[in-house]
Amino acid sequence: MKKVAFIGAGNMNSCILVGMVNQGFNAQDIMVTNPSAPKREALAEQYGIHQSSDNIAAANFADVIVLGVKPHLIKQVCAEIASQIDITNKCFISVAAGVSLAQMHSVLGKSATIIRCMPNTPSQLGLGMTGMFADASIKSNIKEFADQLLASVGKVHWVANEEEIDNLITVSGSGPAYFFAFMEAMQRQAMAFGFSEQTARELVQQTALGAAQMVVQNQDDISTLRENVTSKGGTTHAALMTFKEGGLDTLVSDAMKACKARAIEIT
Ligand code: NAD
Repeated sequence: MKKVAFIGAGNMNSCILVGMVNQGFNAQDIMVTNPSAPKREALAEQYGIHQSSDNIAAANFADVIVLGVKPHLIKQVCAEIASQIDITNKCFISVAAGVSLAQMHSVLGKSATIIRCMPNTPSQLGLGMTGMFADASIKSNIKEFADQLLASVGKVHWVANEEEIDNLITVSGSGPAYFFAFMEAMQRQAMAFGFSEQTARELVQQTALGAAQMVVQNQDDISTLRENVTSKGGTTHAALMTFKEGGLDTLVSDAMKACKARAIEIT
């Protein structure tokens, strides 16, 4: 079994490592680093993993190094590791949005083994959706291990071109927050109609869960599922007409384009 170091104990890395432990990955084969102690210590205490403030110690410990710092710090962290240890047999997996393989190779060297991945936070529950890209130089056994790592916390989709990662960010990477925003708006209006905060939340969350399960368990197009619950002139139709007149499709499409533009300009 390979050892895995998570550089950065933030939202994304925590979700992946918590998911891995919950799915049965040996906690003693995992180390997490973070400059400040509380997050890494809490993870170590709760999940039995190793923790450190020292990225070099973690990189030495691990075969696979998951880079989970903010995009503008990725090159700095790579430089720190590459300047102090032999990375010949290490595999780097970057979860950073907008940091290209070329940018990382410029610091880690041309022959470094690097895989880009774009996970999302439901990984914490084993319900993640991760996009992955490796160039042709990456050996198949390394790709398989990276695949297993992320598949332990959800589904994995390999893209054929690195550019597709930026498209994927706009769908699955940032997508959970779109659904949260929609659910928040529904909860607010349910409360405005007089439901308590807790009841409004329960109504919204169970509806979202049920709708998502219907999509998962049905072979029908999503549009068919929508049409099936929309009688002409009925209540749902009235709501959906309001979305249409308000330009929901364009709004969603503009939001995803803004997400992609930000991914491209972020570093
Ligand atoms: P975050 O701010 O929650 O986590 C980053 C962590 O890195 C922080 O705990 C910070 O203290 C730590 N850190 C900073 N400098 C460090 C260093 N030198 N060494 C070790 N740790 C250091 O951010 P996040 O939302 O988890 O995002 C992290 C990465 O994950 C980003 O590159 C982002 O593009 C990617 N990502 C995030 C999401 C998401 O939904 N949050 C989804 C996909 C990808």
